[in-house]
Amino acid sequence: MSQSFKRPDSQLHVDLWEAQNHLCAFCGKTMLSNRFEAPHATVWARNRATIDHIQPKSKGGTDRRDNLQLVHARCNKIKGNRF
Ligand SMILES: [Zn+2]
Repeated sequence: MSQSFKRPDSQLHVDLWEAQNHLCAFCGKTMLSNRFEAPHATVWARNRATIDHIQPKSKGGTDRRDNLQLVHARCNKIKGNRF
């Protein structure tokens, strides 16, 4: 079983994407999943979906799905600055 060209986190990303109905866990607004949905690279960079650890790994959080959520890249950055 060495056919692992599909990254393990990509299915997780899709699962979270569906479970959250495309909405950011922080601000509740729609996220972008595809570069081509964005009119500009800057819009994509700020609004793309990124995986966030609800409990930070530095505080003992895991990589399990129940500790993960999707948030905007910009929202992830805000959280990162706050903690
Ligand atoms: Zn957001």
